[in-house]
Amino acid sequence: MAKAAKKAKTAKTKSGKFVYLFGRKTDGNGTMKPLLGGKGANLAEMCRIGLPVPPGFTITTEVCTHYYANGRKYPSALKAQMEGGVASIEQQTKKKFGDLTNPLLVSVRSGARDSMPGMMDTILNLGLNDQTVEALARKTQNPRFAWDCYRRFIQMYGDVVLGVQKRPGEDHEPFETVIEGLKHERYHGGIEDTKLSVEDLQELVRRFKALVKERVGKNFPSSPWDQLMGAVGAVFGSWMNDRAIVYRRKYNIPTEWGTAVNVQAMVYGNTGDESGSGVAFTRNPANGEKEFYGEFLINAQGEDVVAGVRTPEPVAELKKQMPAAYKELERIRQTLERHFRDVQDFEFTIEDGVVYMLQTRNGKRTAMAALKFSIDMQKEKLIDWKTAVMRNPADQLEQLLAPVFDAAEAKKAEVIATGLPAGPGAASGQIYLNADRAVTASDKGEKVLLVRVETSPEDLRGMIAAEGILTARGGVSSHAALVARQMGKVCVCGASAVEVDYGKRTVTVAGRVFKEGDWLSIDGTAGKVFAGKVKTAPSEIVAGLIEGDAAARRTEKFRSFQQLMKWCSQASRMSVRTNADTPEQTDNAIAFGAVGIGLCRTEHMFFEGDRIDAMREMILAESLEERQAALDKLLPYQRDDFAGIFRALKGYPATIRFLDPPLHEFLPHTPEQQADLAKKINVPVDRIRARVEQLHEFNPMLGFRGCRLGIEYPEISAMQARAVFEAAAIVQKEGIKVRPEIMIPLVGFKRELDLQLEVVHRAAREVQAERKVKLNYMVGTMIEVPRGALTADEIAQSAEFFSFGTNDLTQTGLGMSRDDSGSFLPGYAEREIVTKNPFATIDNTGVGQLVDIAVTKGRAARPGIKLGICGEHGGDPASIHFFEKVKLDYVSCSPFRVPVARLAAAQAALSMKAPD
Ligand code: ADP
Ligand code: MG
Ligand code: MG
Repeated sequence: MAKAAKKAKTAKTKSGKFVYLFGRKTDGNGTMKPLLGGKGANLAEMCRIGLPVPPGFTITTEVCTHYYANGRKYPSALKAQMEGGVASIEQQTKKKFGDLTNPLLVSVRSGARDSMPGMMDTILNLGLNDQTVEALARKTQNPRFAWDCYRRFIQMYGDVVLGVQKRPGEDHEPFETVIEGLKHERYHGGIEDTKLSVEDLQELVRRFKALVKERVGKNFPSSPWDQLMGAVGAVFGSWMNDRAIVYRRKYNIPTEWGTAVNVQAMVYGNTGDESGSGVAFTRNPANGEKEFYGEFLINAQGEDVVAGVRTPEPVAELKKQMPAAYKELERIRQTLERHFRDVQDFEFTIEDGVVYMLQTRNGKRTAMAALKFSIDMQKEKLIDWKTAVMRNPADQLEQLLAPVFDAAEAKKAEVIATGLPAGPGAASGQIYLNADRAVTASDKGEKVLLVRVETSPEDLRGMIAAEGILTARGGVSSHAALVARQMGKVCVCGASAVEVDYGKRTVTVAGRVFKEGDWLSIDGTAGKVFAGKVKTAPSEIVAGLIEGDAAARRTEKFRSFQQLMKWCSQASRMSVRTNADTPEQTDNAIAFGAVGIGLCRTEHMFFEGDRIDAMREMILAESLEERQAALDKLLPYQRDDFAGIFRALKGYPATIRFLDPPLHEFLPHTPEQQADLAKKINVPVDRIRARVEQLHEFNPMLGFRGCRLGIEYPEISAMQARAVFEAAAIVQKEGIKVRPEIMIPLVGFKRELDLQLEVVHRAAREVQAERKVKLNYMVGTMIEVPRGALTADEIAQSAEFFSFGTNDLTQTGLGMSRDDSGSFLPGYAEREIVTKNPFATIDNTGVGQLVDIAVTKGRAARPGIKLGICGEHGGDPASIHFFEKVKLDYVSCSPFRVPVARLAAAQAALSMKAPD
């Protein structure tokens, strides 16, 4: 039994080929990343296109898998294949491993599919011992170099393979302590590594070996093959160390992938001043400029460049110091880009003036650089426009729209607190702690930063007036964060170190007191709070699109962005609408390319100015007549609001949701506010208090809200319908097309919708007769409770469209209140019950299945039914991919998310067509 199982596992190592050569003969290529790892596959690819790569071989990831499946044992054929690999390197380099005249040294390098923190560090100069070091010194006539290699090797191998590392309580790496000790004894500390003499280096080697003996209890291995097998074992071992496991879990990398190991002939950057080592990008990864970008160190091996002991110089300096090598690097830069058709991040070493390539991969980049790369490379015909679209990470695109801090000033500024980055960008302003004072200050022309413990709908005016919003409490789905996203405001929320004292009108951070009118600055991209004023500038894209700034429209950034958006429209199947409640938000969204409103929340229309009083009167009414009288006051306000929105839409459709939140949200809750209202609308304060108590609910989210309000009080829906249709009639007469889509919220039963339909159609008939117009409208529903999704076939008989309210559908589908999930959801993520926040990225398997069911049933009952999504997920790239899969007609998101959604929708459509 056991034997059979073991045999099956061994058989899984398919080919029996464990070692892939690269060099004069190359077995692998760049597409073989799963088998050879990212580094190994690209080393092979570089050999294939004739770039100068020191020869070597890659031990495949299958060996790693075998190693763990078989109690940490290698396949029996491995050793022989490695010997073949070493022989091949020997042949090509005319050196011999362990030789006493011309010794071959190798590097041992780990290489998973993607570079992965936690994996073993590279070991250089492997193959040295007390004899081969002398041979290397003789052969190169450079004893300093030979002994430098030897001390580096013992140090790296001792650290990485033998585990001679800092112990708890020690401040320094033990090998570094030995080096510092020697420098101190002999030079009083003040000497660079490159200036140590041969004798110093020999002494270091002796002390290093003693250190290893003391720590490990064994001699440092002197046989090159023992060294090699030890290093290979350490690479495979590191695949299962804690750091690597944690990283894989976090990024969902399967353990089965395994790592490869690369064994490669050494080239030496430390032979003298005609040698060196560096890292470079084929273009600038920060701003996208087409310039050679990178740094190098003269007389150094690779690890020195990143170690930060010596300060590297920009690659441009090489032009003066080693013109021939520079020219060769320029040629390589061109070759790499022409071949890989993407910006490469590569590592090189120069040995006595000759350039060698040691690694290449696609370079990481900022959103700005990604945009410029994609546009430029399409122009240069390196890539087509579809590839250009794919090259822009959708979740980074918002960076391009954010106002920015002046880079130099931000560096000097002092960070005093951190919070959640809730609205990207930079804002600087004089602080105010309430909405009224913020508005007054902003009217006077001050730049204002609104600072609150938390925000609520009453703060809206202040938030609009402010450059940015800072709150001490609340998460990324708090009121402040939601509004900030919708308005494109800079926002840092939940900065718990910020103490807000409304009474004293002060903000205290780490013992420092800021009064109203003092300056603070916030970086909503990074979640940082700075003391004082830091200079900012708006993004050219926002200035050009929203403010119509002509100079901004001429900038390259603006034009590139517009080009990208044009391509997105060409590639997309779904369209993008916006969640907007005002004409201004609508204007913004349309400027960003939205083609309609997917969610207009009417309750926001009840808050402004005097309307809230009429609304409260309506709620407090004790008879239908009283209620109707209050509604009559609200009607003209709503009608004007809708008319404004219809005008801004210029013919695009608008999905208008009828009143949704529980009524108690509109009533004043403190005794002072209640007394105030009593005076204002001439109602006894007792009646107000009684009504507030009466409307109190244990679970308002599942209470008297949504269509339940309109069913109990049809006159509310009638007023809203009338406001919509009267506005439509008015705007239509102005010559603008109007396409209202009335949406009934929280429907779980077909009959709920039918009752509301009656009210809506009656209002439509009346208005059309009164105003002698023909209106083009639809009535549909929000699918946001599981029963609605499961009975979508019944509901679709009455509904002309569905819009998925994925916020509530997630809450009701998971039985989890979003506002209360902060207490347990982080723990759920840690325990991997959920991999992503389901309120940010749709839960594909659960909530997504409800969407899928509703789509299928809805289409079966009403072919051609219009389907959209208006929850927060409508602006989330991962969720948008899901919505493309179930073939919704559109997604809707907040105005400043529209470009992100357009890009994600385009990418989703492109990746559907070409799955890989
Ligand atoms: P990482 O994955 O951390 O970048 P690498 O395996 O790329 O580790 O090695 C780091 C550096 O070590 C390389 O950039 C290069 O400078 C140096 N190095 C690796 N192999 C060799 C070699 N065969 N010859 C010379 N230098 C090497
Ligand atoms: Mg590297
Ligand atoms: Mg809802």
